[in-house]
Amino acid sequence: MKIICIGRNYVDHTKELNNPIPKKPVFFMKPETSLLQKNNPFFYPEFSEDIHHEIEVVIKISKVGKHIQKEFAPNYYEEIGLGIDFTARDLQASAKAKGLPWEIAKAFDHAAPIGKFLPKSHFTDVQNFDFELMINSEIRQQGNTNEMIFSIDEIIAYISQFVSLKIGDLIYTGTPAGVGSVSIGDRLQGFIGDEEMFDFEVK
Ligand code: ZN
Repeated sequence: MKIICIGRNYVDHTKELNNPIPKKPVFFMKPETSLLQKNNPFFYPEFSEDIHHEIEVVIKISKVGKHIQKEFAPNYYEEIGLGIDFTARDLQASAKAKGLPWEIAKAFDHAAPIGKFLPKSHFTDVQNFDFELMINSEIRQQGNTNEMIFSIDEIIAYISQFVSLKIGDLIYTGTPAGVGSVSIGDRLQGFIGDEEMFDFEVK
């Protein structure tokens, strides 16, 4: 399986990092070794001094597809989850400054925590639900999928023009505003509505 992440999909977050609003989705990938599951702790890596949290709604692909048209995109996923796109912001800034790719800041081990999944039937509208990240019982990031620049269906259609999607692939759909650093000892809890999706610690 592979993990595909969308960058700059919420206007407020795009602005907080001083990036232009994209005209097409921006995507990058993380390897399978980035997954962190079952509420296992995240061990703060030695190579960074500025690991940022990015709370993101995650789509699980349920059907093989390429060149998927937007109107058929809903047929390609059955479950929605919540995860974090951990980013080594210091390494990313230095790579960006040199015009280099920034995989090093995104693709490291356990940089993609993922919680449980909910069936699509749980949602009255997949493009209109609230999600949030709490750190040490304080709200740090809040979003609603109606704030996405590119909808889930547009993302699936766009990515599948370039990359075939396979069963079990995960798409992280971008983060709303409020990204910031995590520290050793932090407890991170993710919610979709009132439903707790993950709960793990930084060690
Ligand atoms: Zn992200």
